[in-house]
Amino acid sequence: MVREALLIVDMSNDFVADNGTLTVGNPAQEIVPYITALATRFLAERNLVIVSMDAHQKNDSHFELWPPHNIVETEGQQLYGALYDWFQDNKNHKNLVYKSKTNYNAFFQTDLAETLKKSEIKKVHTVGVTTDICVFLTVSGADAEGFKTAIHKQGIATFTDLGETMTNHMKRCFHTEIIE
Ligand SMILES: [Zn+2]
Repeated sequence: MVREALLIVDMSNDFVADNGTLTVGNPAQEIVPYITALATRFLAERNLVIVSMDAHQKNDSHFELWPPHNIVETEGQQLYGALYDWFQDNKNHKNLVYKSKTNYNAFFQTDLAETLKKSEIKKVHTVGVTTDICVFLTVSGADAEGFKTAIHKQGIATFTDLGETMTNHMKRCFHTEIIE
């Protein structure tokens, strides 16, 4: 029975590629091999993998705060590099799911919690970008839905200097397991 899920958050061209409009750049590119290996392991162990992706309309009020990014059906919104290839290779796998989101928190106004509960998931592992914004708020969302949470230090990155602080903050607030 499936009991754990891996959430891959916002690993799009806009957040990861050199020419992305809101890119983390190198630190995000460096976590790609770890994430693809982890996702492969999750599928092999019959766990669930969710690709959670920011999906904005052109006129989203979110762009009053941030440069336009992850506009639906643009190249910027597509998965980055090797993760794109990994997704294409596995997209017909029954335990791989793609979920769009419009908020930092992947659980906000989505059916993600319902999907996880249907699969009897007890623990949610989160990787992706950025540690202090979408990863943090998604872990918070998972906790609020009653899931145990874990993050993988080798699978998260950010463009600020808050990575370490927010990692410790997740541990403090949600008892998040920190996997080295
Ligand atoms: Zn966004």
